[in-house]
Amino acid sequence: MTRSLRRIQDPGSRLRLSHRDGNVPGILLDLNGVTKSFDGEPAVRVDSLRALPGRTLVLIGASGSGKSTLLRLMVGLLPPDRGTVTLGSTEITPATAPRLRRRMGYVIQDGGLFPHLTARGNVVLMARHVGWRADRVESRLRELVELTRFPPDGLDRFPAQLSGGQRQRVSLMRALMLDPDLLLLDEPLGALDPLIRSDLQEDLRRIFRTLGKTVVLVTHDLGEARYFADRIVLLQEGRVAQEGTFEDLVERPKSPFVTRFVRAQRWAATDDEVTS
Ligand code: ADP
Ligand code: MG
Repeated sequence: MTRSLRRIQDPGSRLRLSHRDGNVPGILLDLNGVTKSFDGEPAVRVDSLRALPGRTLVLIGASGSGKSTLLRLMVGLLPPDRGTVTLGSTEITPATAPRLRRRMGYVIQDGGLFPHLTARGNVVLMARHVGWRADRVESRLRELVELTRFPPDGLDRFPAQLSGGQRQRVSLMRALMLDPDLLLLDEPLGALDPLIRSDLQEDLRRIFRTLGKTVVLVTHDLGEARYFADRIVLLQEGRVAQEGTFEDLVERPKSPFVTRFVRAQRWAATDDEVTS
């Protein structure tokens, strides 16, 4: 039995193990020489990029800079034209992707929920598909409702009957259902109004820290990047303009573009109320 399968059968096991043994939970995601073009136009050109186990990597950049494409390459939904994407010790290819995707939770911007399924139906879909027994599905669901602070009476509502913030909590529960090693989130808070967004930011950061997952989060908001990131990757036309901490980007910009990007969002660098 693989390690991940064992964990799935005892969803809490890794958390306890990691805390007791000091093991780093999560998994390494490694990109090397990855390029992807659409109609001859390069969308992603990344020499080397790593998401470290148990850490949060934030991808930031203007609209069209390749953030979503990069995330799709990481999830194996798109094959690269060149280069490799490796999860743990396994390269993600069209052949390995379907199996590896069970170890990854993916949240897209609008949540991507099935409108004809209830919240519960959306969350448990994959677990049913891979053959979990009903009592195990139910107990995992209860854990996730508590973790994401989702109102339990919302479970039997359809996505259209939930608020935007609740829908994102459902998407998050769905992504976490199989206890993935890697969590990828594409502007998960982008469509929410400021108060709901701030609540969900706090909950998300708590969840990332509690679970110790490897997280890759996309945003176009530098304040949000600062709030979540162990490391930030700033993309410019599909390339890495700079990788580092928030302070690296603000205090040691590597190019005029980085300076401009930071200046355009200068409130993020000064307003501690929002970001701490
Ligand atoms: P971001 O998420 O940073 O806004 P994207 O990754 O969505 O950027 O897009 C990067 C570039 O690739 C854009 O120029 C976009 O138009 C192009 N692109 C993305 N997906 C496709 C696609 N499926 N077909 C054609 N072009 C695409
Ligand atoms: Mg995008």
